[in-house]
Amino acid sequence: MDRVPKNYCLECEWAARDDRVADRTAAVIEHAVATGHDIDSVQLSLSQEPPRTLLLN
Ligand SMILES: [Zn+2]
Repeated sequence: MDRVPKNYCLECEWAARDDRVADRTAAVIEHAVATGHDIDSVQLSLSQEPPRTLLLN
């Protein structure tokens, strides 16, 4: 049931696993700037939609 989006680097094994979306975004930007690598941006767009389970609560 682990549906927490994770951001993966496309060019190495790096991945952002922070709980907060803002922390993952910051980590992604930091890695991209530091290495010039491309991060999987699909995970970023998915993380912008709130999970339906939260709305039901
Ligand atoms: Zn990388």
